[in-house]
Amino acid sequence: MGDSAGNPAAKPALIGLWRVLHVWSAQKTRLVAPLALIAILSAIALNTAIALRQSHEQRYALSQQRAVESAKRDLDELQNALLDEHEQLYTVIGTRPFYRRAAYIYPLPALIDNANAAQRTCEGRERCIALLDELKDMIRHLGALSNRLAMLSMLKPGSVTMDTPSLGELDARFFQTMQKIGEIRMDEDAHLDQSVTRASRDSQMASALLLGSGLAAACLLLAFLRRNARITKSLRKALQAADVNRKKYKRLFQLNPLPIWIVDDASMRLVAVNDMAAKALGYRASEMLELRLGDLRMNKTALHGAPFAHARGHDDGTAIWEHRTKSGELRSMNVFQLQTDFDGRTATLCVMEDVTTQLAAQAELRHRAEYDALTGLTNRKYFDERVNRELQQASRAGKTLAMIFLDLDNFKEVNDSLGHRIGDALLAQIARRIERVVGERGTVARYGGDEFMVIADGAAPLLEPLLDSLLAAMTEPIQVAGHELFIEASIGISLYPADGDDADALVRNADAAMYLAKQNGRNQYQFYRPELSEAATSRLRISTRLRQAFRNGALTVLYQPQFDMATGTMIGAEALLRWTDAELGSVSPAVFIPVAEETGLIRGIGEWVLREACREAARWNRDPARPIRVSVNVSPLQFEHGDLMGQVREALRDSGLPPALLELEVTEGALMRTPDLAARTLAGLREMGVRVAIDDFGTGYSSLGYLKRFRVDRLKIDREFVREIGQDTETEAITLAVIAVAKALNFELIAEGVETSGHRDFLLQNGCTHAQGFLYSHAVSAGAIADIAANAAARPAPLPV
Ligand code: C2E
Ligand code: MG
Ligand code: MG
Repeated sequence: MGDSAGNPAAKPALIGLWRVLHVWSAQKTRLVAPLALIAILSAIALNTAIALRQSHEQRYALSQQRAVESAKRDLDELQNALLDEHEQLYTVIGTRPFYRRAAYIYPLPALIDNANAAQRTCEGRERCIALLDELKDMIRHLGALSNRLAMLSMLKPGSVTMDTPSLGELDARFFQTMQKIGEIRMDEDAHLDQSVTRASRDSQMASALLLGSGLAAACLLLAFLRRNARITKSLRKALQAADVNRKKYKRLFQLNPLPIWIVDDASMRLVAVNDMAAKALGYRASEMLELRLGDLRMNKTALHGAPFAHARGHDDGTAIWEHRTKSGELRSMNVFQLQTDFDGRTATLCVMEDVTTQLAAQAELRHRAEYDALTGLTNRKYFDERVNRELQQASRAGKTLAMIFLDLDNFKEVNDSLGHRIGDALLAQIARRIERVVGERGTVARYGGDEFMVIADGAAPLLEPLLDSLLAAMTEPIQVAGHELFIEASIGISLYPADGDDADALVRNADAAMYLAKQNGRNQYQFYRPELSEAATSRLRISTRLRQAFRNGALTVLYQPQFDMATGTMIGAEALLRWTDAELGSVSPAVFIPVAEETGLIRGIGEWVLREACREAARWNRDPARPIRVSVNVSPLQFEHGDLMGQVREALRDSGLPPALLELEVTEGALMRTPDLAARTLAGLREMGVRVAIDDFGTGYSSLGYLKRFRVDRLKIDREFVREIGQDTETEAITLAVIAVAKALNFELIAEGVETSGHRDFLLQNGCTHAQGFLYSHAVSAGAIADIAANAAARPAPLPV
């Protein structure tokens, strides 16, 4: 590598290569190019190292060749010298008599020099040195033997013969020495062969590696070049597309109907703003580019949804933010934000939708669904939900809660005498008072007409002062539209968990306790007590459940037809309330009507029955040729409090029923409770053309005086008398007297409770032709009345007497 890097020609090539890689790496992964460069440079370094090693190997092989050749030459010389010397010795010892030598000394130093010269060429090779050392020893031996034999033969010629053992030994050593020389030569040859083979093998390997890495580098370069060409091509294409994109950008960004801007993440400055964004916030686009996001977004957090992080790496997503317009108005925008690159910086693209009106409408709808329109208090449905949530929390925290049921004592009178508008204003003021008293101590709801509910902490030291304040707040006079009104409240309380563990049970028991407060003289509070007497509990239950049934629209009205027994025609029908309760089953009006009267609930229920009956009767009477009258029972309370005349007028007007087809049934007792008021009301009703009947006639006062005073249209003979017909002659005599009175005073007459043909015959024979009873029909649904009327009219002959 050092060679290549140092080479001035390699430098531009490397730079070029780096550039190619750089362009490529800009498009692709940044790591690949440096790695490829490292790979190429490593290949070059490896090749260089191999080449160096190869030349070293070759040089070494060459020097070895030279050394071996010189050694071999030295050995040749040595061998020749040894041969000569051996011959010389034989000459000396006279084995060849034709040749004699005067003196003989073995030329040991010259031979050892010869061997040393050969040994010098063995530098670094142990084996060669060792072999030559052995050879030198052998020569020394040979020299010593030769000198001894030569000496012997010169001193005593002929003493050394071919049989002399020393001569045999000398020959043997001489051959050994010759063999050693041969061995050394072969060894040298082997060594030379080895170094030449290694040098040539290294050379082959280096060539192969050079070729391989060269090929790899070439392929890599080729690939880079091709890639580069492709990138250039796509860049050219991108340039062409840029023009099209500029137009698209204009359409997508600048002219987009949604406000869009781009915020630089680091500085939070607006770096691009479209026309609609500027328009939405009342700025010019150029003005907006001077702003930071914080100048537009007043709050630090979104109203809903994902946060807008002010740093890199935030989540993309949608959130609703409030933005201030140039004029200071607040607009809620649903912002979709996306992290992007803008001019090489990290930025956030925000696409917005103005949802101010939408949010306001949603809030309004939510408010309407959860709050009472008149008082602004939580409504019943939402209250129940909140209560159940609070109960769960209380259960976890082991807390006591109090359900406070507050019912106004005389609201109905105010409403009836001063009208609904005053009533509504009063309720709104009462609501404010309750809210003021309760404050943070609980949640207040309007539960029904004049019923309010509070859920508060049930701990006695907190609860009792609250209840006292509530009662006190109610008793203060209230000014409404110039009237000074006095309102009192009855309050019932049930406690969680002692008196119930869900909203339903707590409300029911608080209602029962409230009823107790009313029973005990009103304007007070009572806690629910499970030990209340059976009867009271049952009445409480009836009143509580009846109230709920009425509120939930679970009451129905059936109609019992009234007949002319002489002709068989249906002349009218009496509206009778029916109530089937999920817990109590079917409850008789004889049971629940007195309870409804005690609680005052009958006023609301009575008004509702009146309207229902008029509405249904108007439908039966579409054919004026066959009029069917409807009789509606009216409770004494409806007479005493409230605007009965007004209610009747409204019911007739709304239904379109002719007044002559409506009859109100009142009991004698009802009339006698407030005779003056009753007389005035009856007179007024009759003036309107509405008929009046005295119900259950004969069971009450039955004084002819009051009958004269209260001008009525019809008497209803009580079913107790009718039941005794054919059984008890005394009762029959009373019935006859009633019939006589009616006739004398010119009242119409109808008998109720006609169950048998015996009843019918007796009544017909004694001049009472109209009847109602199970003999003819039980009470039926409004829809069935028209059918019964049609069937009865179709009958050719009067019913048999
Ligand atoms: P009422 O006004 O005297 O109604 C007649 C009662 O006699 C009804 O009882 C009716 O079902 C029952 N009846 C009819 N025919 C026969 C029969 O042949 N035999 C016998 N044993 N009974 C018969 P109901 O419906 O139980 O009503 C009882 C009372 O409840 C009514 O007596 C009425 O005073 C009161 N009531 C019913 N509906 C209303 C209402 O809408 N308002 C008021 N204020 N009171 C109502
Ligand atoms: Mg009746
Ligand atoms: Mg009756």
